[in-house]
Amino acid sequence: MAETSIDWNERLSTSVRSIAPSGIRKFFDIAAKMEDVISLGVGEPDFVTPWPIRESCIYGLEQGYTSYTANRGLIELRQEIANMYAREYDLHYAPDTDILVTVGVSEAMDLAMRALLEPGDEVLIPEPCYVSYAACTTLAGGVPVAVPAKLENEFRITAAELEQYVTPKTKVLLIGYPNNPTGAIMTRQDFEQIADFAEQHDLIVISDEIYGALTYGDEPHACFAAMPRMQERTVLLNGFSKAYAMTGWRIGYAMGNPAIIAAMTKIHQYTMLCAPVTAQVGAIEALRHGEKARLKMLHEYDRRRRLIYDGLTKLGLTCFEPKGAFYIFPDITSSGYTSDEFAEQLLQTEHVALVPGTAFGACGEGHVRCSYATSIDKISEALTRIEHFLKHHKK
Ligand code: PLP
Repeated sequence: MAETSIDWNERLSTSVRSIAPSGIRKFFDIAAKMEDVISLGVGEPDFVTPWPIRESCIYGLEQGYTSYTANRGLIELRQEIANMYAREYDLHYAPDTDILVTVGVSEAMDLAMRALLEPGDEVLIPEPCYVSYAACTTLAGGVPVAVPAKLENEFRITAAELEQYVTPKTKVLLIGYPNNPTGAIMTRQDFEQIADFAEQHDLIVISDEIYGALTYGDEPHACFAAMPRMQERTVLLNGFSKAYAMTGWRIGYAMGNPAIIAAMTKIHQYTMLCAPVTAQVGAIEALRHGEKARLKMLHEYDRRRRLIYDGLTKLGLTCFEPKGAFYIFPDITSSGYTSDEFAEQLLQTEHVALVPGTAFGACGEGHVRCSYATSIDKISEALTRIEHFLKHHKK
């Protein structure tokens, strides 16, 4: 672009200027220019979307599914989503009024924030957490209030901790379990006290359950909206990116009271119109026939989870054993480096990319996020390189 006399930075909105670009991307840009890099950095499945889902989309195109859909999404898809929640959690949502199909959970999150927040409203956000929570809050005029979760408590949040940060301006509690980046889950018992807390302070709860179908061990996923009395005050977000390896399809959804769904639909109508039709066709297939493929991928993540947990623990890094999603969040303070330094040095010297914990909030200092959505061979090689790094490059 040619030189300009306009100072574009001056023209940008204050809210956009106030947010930093995602700390995840910075390291990928460096890694992209290097050879022989093993990435434990990206938060997306290494699997290609299962074939029957891809095939249904191709068939949909053949049949001429190429136009806009209803703003809220194809009714068949909303019906399948409603069926799934009725079956899995005994939670009942009306496809006509209580469900909105969005362009990923990313859009659903943005819509929920914009539909709910007045300038200055505070949003309680347990951290470490996904990078977009605070940014979406700020962009919608709200004030993100970080509530640090602790390694000692397996990164679960308690009502007592939330209580310390609540003020008369608190309007929303935003939770995301299974958690990115820690792999923490909340049990039904944990959620019972959070439910009481939300009720006592009359908060709206946004629950991002995008990793709800990815849990390991005996503890089943606890859906927050399925807690007694919580369905009415919860905006439940979920999508297809992680469970069905469909990140590029960009399909998510929001469920809740008809008034909040109608408000979110209004914004969606003017800004997005509808989610892509071919991807919606694929999402229907995922819900109708994708269970076997989903379980196969889940089984594979579990093998990788155990390998990386055992490997990092043997290297002397304190780790919480992740119970959901596909991340592990080791404590790297014994290396003498900060999170940022650790990630940078490891990348420069051993060509292993991971993400500094601080990308997920200030309380992520002292940790790094490793994604195990990559092959067993690559994880093994990464562990060998991390071992070498810890032996030869300790600060
Ligand atoms: N929520 C969490 C916790 C995530 O980790 C991600 C993606 O990494 C998203 C939401 C965004 O998902 P989507 O692809 O549905 O926009």
